Amino acid sequence: MSVFNNALSQLKRATDQMNLSGSVIEQLKKPERILQLALPVVMDNGEVKVFEGYRVQYSSARGPYKGGIRYHPKTNLDEVKALGFWMVIKCAVVGIPLGGAKGGVTVDPKKLSTSELERLTRAFARQLSLFIGPDKDILAPDVNTTPEIMGWIMDEYSRVVGRQVPGVVTGKPLSLGGSQGRVPATAQGGFYVLTELLSKLKLNPKKLTAAVQGMGNVGGMTAVLLWQAGVKIVAMSDSTTAIYNSKGLNVAEVEKYKKAHGSLAGYKEATKIDNRKLLLLPVDILIPAALENQITKDNAGKIKARIVFEMANGPTTPEADVKLAKKGVVVVPDVLANAGGVTVSYFELVQNLQQYYWDEGEVLAKLKPIMVQAFKHVWERAQQLKIDLRTAAYVVALERIAQAIEARGKY
Ligand code: NAD
Repeated sequence: MSVFNNALSQLKRATDQMNLSGSVIEQLKKPERILQLALPVVMDNGEVKVFEGYRVQYSSARGPYKGGIRYHPKTNLDEVKALGFWMVIKCAVVGIPLGGAKGGVTVDPKKLSTSELERLTRAFARQLSLFIGPDKDILAPDVNTTPEIMGWIMDEYSRVVGRQVPGVVTGKPLSLGGSQGRVPATAQGGFYVLTELLSKLKLNPKKLTAAVQGMGNVGGMTAVLLWQAGVKIVAMSDSTTAIYNSKGLNVAEVEKYKKAHGSLAGYKEATKIDNRKLLLLPVDILIPAALENQITKDNAGKIKARIVFEMANGPTTPEADVKLAKKGVVVVPDVLANAGGVTVSYFELVQNLQQYYWDEGEVLAKLKPIMVQAFKHVWERAQQLKIDLRTAAYVVALERIAQAIEARGKY
């Protein structure tokens, strides 16, 4: 299943609703630049292993390229292109002055020692150094990449160019110019959007149940925030195990267990269920927060949730979208739901450039109105055009991107 084809289908669905010029649409169908890198790394046993890395700089129409990097054994160019495209849409949905990019290395980081991981990351940053920078392309964390890894990128790039450049990457440790509130930002932004949605649908969070797929930075923190707001979280999962408790999980305990044991396997206060079954549970809110292509034409018909809240990028395929819409399921798209992460990354860049830092209260006070406003624009456009929220988010974003492309004149 090509994830990039999914992204192009979503683009088509939105442009069918609009009057965009053909040349704008053509420009959005292809990334501006694709970098494919061979990354030789000396392993701890002295052997040299060559890893494959990618950076797709998709569009700079609205500003410098921006997007995370992923370390995963299944990462490939098709996936990175799709993720880069979604960053373009996402930055435009929340109205921050950035373009979109994504990167990745095909590797299982769990199989590397810390020093191998550092050498791989430094090789990646070194090879990219001609093409990145605070006014060119800004990197960030994604699946399996952490603040520590962002710190290595900042250090390597700064060494190559011979000056300190914290703004080349966001999601850094605070000691290197990271932003307060960046780690929980994606979850926090999602929480603001979900709160707005529930109020529109007149639903009380204290009477709702949810299942969360993926317990990383995004899924784990989203579960905590919902649980603190009174939502009963009945199921959670990581790549190895899914757990279920109809009476509700103590999310703080589950998080503690995952941190201590590295996985959910063996957690006693719940029943182990099949990972795929988590998606089909009779809950009010289903939160995919792991990887792409989880809700497909094969399982969409069996989804019982009334809200699918996409904290992962690309968890629902276009065919599944159609099936979910027919069933009346409200799908809140990734490009809106998880845009809090890139918004606080933008704040981090701003703080790096001005060398003046905000406290967490200030960061959250700036994040909330952006997320609330983005939800409002998308919701209103969906009502006005009688379309689903994903298509509405694309319409909002594409109008802004088209304006920038046209304002630049003919190339
Ligand atoms: P992460 O590496 O911190 O966590 C990923 C989690 O997903 C892990 O718990 C892993 O065990 C789990 N997982 C993997 N495959 C699974 C499967 N088949 N079933 C259940 N769980 C599975 O990554 P993250 O940063 O939390 O990213 C998760 C998603 O959120 C990705 O789609 C990413 O692109 C998206 N996202 C991340 C950010 C960010 O700021 N980190 C921002 C926006 C979107």
